[in-house]
Amino acid sequence: MDCDLLLTNAHVLTLDDEFTAHPGGDVAISGGKIVETGRLIGKYTPRETIDCQGRVVMPGLINAHTHAPMTLLRGLADDLRLDVWLMGYMMPVEREFVRPEFVALGTRLACAEMIRGGTTCFADMYYFEDSVAEAAASAGVRAFCGETVLKFPTPDAASFEDSLAYARDFISRWKSHPLIVPGPAPHAPYTCTEEILRACAELAAEFDVPLHTHLAETAFEVDQSRREHGMPVVPWVKKQRLFDARVLAAHCVHVDEGEIRALQMAGAGVAHNPTSNLKLGSGVAPAASMLALGVNVGIGTDGTASNNDLDMFEEMRLAALLAKGTSGDPTAIPARQAVAMATRIGARALHLGDITGSLEPGKRADLIVVDLTQTHTSPQFTRDPNAVYSQLVYSGKASDVVDVMCDGRWLMRDRQLLTLDEPELRAHAADVARRIDRFLIAREQSVLQKLIAIGGAAEQESFEVQVKARARSADAVIAALDSDDITVIRGVHYHQFDTYFFFDDPEQGRLRYREDEFLDADGRVVNARARLTLTGPSREAAFGSVLLFRSRFFAPATHSPRFYREYFHPAREREVDKDRRRWLVAYRGVQFYVHLDRLKNPAVDGYFVEVKSRTWSRRDAQDKAAIIADLLERLGAEPSETVEADYVDL
Ligand SMILES: [Zn+2]
Repeated sequence: MDCDLLLTNAHVLTLDDEFTAHPGGDVAISGGKIVETGRLIGKYTPRETIDCQGRVVMPGLINAHTHAPMTLLRGLADDLRLDVWLMGYMMPVEREFVRPEFVALGTRLACAEMIRGGTTCFADMYYFEDSVAEAAASAGVRAFCGETVLKFPTPDAASFEDSLAYARDFISRWKSHPLIVPGPAPHAPYTCTEEILRACAELAAEFDVPLHTHLAETAFEVDQSRREHGMPVVPWVKKQRLFDARVLAAHCVHVDEGEIRALQMAGAGVAHNPTSNLKLGSGVAPAASMLALGVNVGIGTDGTASNNDLDMFEEMRLAALLAKGTSGDPTAIPARQAVAMATRIGARALHLGDITGSLEPGKRADLIVVDLTQTHTSPQFTRDPNAVYSQLVYSGKASDVVDVMCDGRWLMRDRQLLTLDEPELRAHAADVARRIDRFLIAREQSVLQKLIAIGGAAEQESFEVQVKARARSADAVIAALDSDDITVIRGVHYHQFDTYFFFDDPEQGRLRYREDEFLDADGRVVNARARLTLTGPSREAAFGSVLLFRSRFFAPATHSPRFYREYFHPAREREVDKDRRRWLVAYRGVQFYVHLDRLKNPAVDGYFVEVKSRTWSRRDAQDKAAIIADLLERLGAEPSETVEADYVDL
């Protein structure tokens, strides 16, 4: 019988369901497919024969979850909490830099690294997925490419409708490619709307392609889902009919047994990402339980910004070790099962089990040759047929992979890459890093630029005059507001909690995180809101020490004070909380806000009055200052230079 290529004298690990192995065996390949494995010398007349010198020949590894272009963000910002890392660094840099060329370069760099480590197939999720697909295909690597859809604007789409249109066009163009499987990738339940989840599932079903998403990565995500939807993540997405599609779900760190069963029933694959979950402190996925309940759990590296490499040998080892360490059971996820997760089971998780993941007749020839005769893998034992899996998982390294073939084409021979130019890729990546460094260095010098970068997009700059004073009594102020020449337009009562962030450079101004709890007539909280205000240094101090004229930028506070603390790194902090009554009044033809405050923290006796008004020029500010002085007298309040020391809100 003819065949294109016969690999001889190999320790063949087929990774089929029976874990069939052929020590001293051969692999026949024709037309890019596996024809047969076993003792084949004499049976075939190959066009080419390669003696594998006793090395391991096994299926190429399958990286079940990554964001390949993020190689260009490797090491950019580490040791941060997930929200600060994602919202504070990754997303702002991505908004600024991610273009098709960036994505193509990052993917080529990722492919070079993956090929070196024996990965022949990866599941991706990113923007401009068209460029990921093109780069992977030209490098000769198989990929399931998921085009990201989010509820907010992305580098490649101004709206989710645009994302969906991009995904549809992308899927229809790549649908029958021999190496690329395209699909939609709704990023995660908390970054998508119900409408997006449904639309993506429908799109995947319409084209009969898989769908890639992140599920239950953090405990916070699950708590939020319970709060908002009254159920954890898996039933919630099931309710949105996500499982109408063939789903690949990354993470599933925080899922209970019922959810695991639901994933299994839905035929969803899971990508276990040990390093990423450890590095971001998300926890450890119950991979052994998921496998025991019949879920196809593959292994992924996640993006290189949260790993920081694409080394599947490391991930196999961690998957095996973590299962033991978290359960106290050293038999959990044995080495052989870890290798299966990185090959056959991973292929099934990607819904590609019929074409790759094992060396079985009819499957595509995606295979690697691994040299286990290195010092760190010596010696070899033959008594236990599973010893070879132990060598691979517990002592093997990505650099032990010597040859890589995908779809019947050699991508690496003798550790030389055949489809990619590594020195060129490294040089281009260094250029990108220099540009990103410049961007972040400029941004980090300004609190305002950092605020804008997190989409806390400062609404606008506004100027105001304001005076603070000590009140004789609260009753006197309230009585004065009742008089005929002061018109109260509206009033509100609330409890105000402020956290002030101060910076060493006074030119940066100060940042205030404020939570207002609105109170009804009986003092019950009826509503709450949180806002950020960046107050610039005084532009004018010419009106005396109590009157100011300065800029303020406002932004909605969408994160916790903890997020802003870790993102802005203030030099000092101060907390102030107070009971505030606030009126909008008209006096002498001008509108002012009048605040009547009682300080609770720091506790200060007596009441304070603050009068303020927006202004637009020095002249206008001076005019208003005169009226404010008059109004304060009417309210029985004394301007005081010591007020600022008591409460910061000037
Ligand atoms: Zn991910």
